[in-house]
Amino acid sequence: MAEADFRFVPLVCGQCTGRMAAGKKQVLYQCHVCGGVWECSGGKLLSKEMIRFSGSGDIHLPFWHATFSITCLEGIINDTAGFMKICGSVKVSDMSSAPPHLFIPAFSLPLQQAIKLGRNMTVRFPSFLLASVQDSLVEPVTLSEADAPLMAEMILLASLVEELRTSRSFLASFSVQLTSLAPVSIPFTRKESRLLQLEMNLEI
Ligand SMILES: [Zn+2]
Repeated sequence: MAEADFRFVPLVCGQCTGRMAAGKKQVLYQCHVCGGVWECSGGKLLSKEMIRFSGSGDIHLPFWHATFSITCLEGIINDTAGFMKICGSVKVSDMSSAPPHLFIPAFSLPLQQAIKLGRNMTVRFPSFLLASVQDSLVEPVTLSEADAPLMAEMILLASLVEELRTSRSFLASFSVQLTSLAPVSIPFTRKESRLLQLEMNLEI
């Protein structure tokens, strides 16, 4: 009988030796003692930096954050002004020549809801500041880095004006390139069964 190709990796924080719990479908693990975040890769635990953004609320939800460019019929769209045009935004941004930012929900959420949340965050062009505390406990990350690009594509397609979203020739030419994909957390406030992000006027 062939040996099974698996091994057990003890979930012990490499920084402070605190034990970490692994929930169902979790892809990053967090030490509850020092807040360090780890990923399991090739049978080893590797440290993963997670940026905490500031805001009101004490439930820290994880997202994959990236800047992006879109290749499509119009050519390459790699600045905020260009992206605003194809998603029909009328918001005035002082970041118009900077690359646009994308937020991909990384916690457990039904697919349609995750696409809608990612879309709403992306088309609001939020700007965040770093939180003063960088070791807060974050809700479990269940979307892997490898699955983030596909979600990114679905979120960006959902962000487009209808005319483009339903154009076959546009969609045939559409592809997304992500740059500096990394995990971040954003604070939300719990209100009854809802989660609110007050600065962005968002609700889950
Ligand atoms: Zn630790």
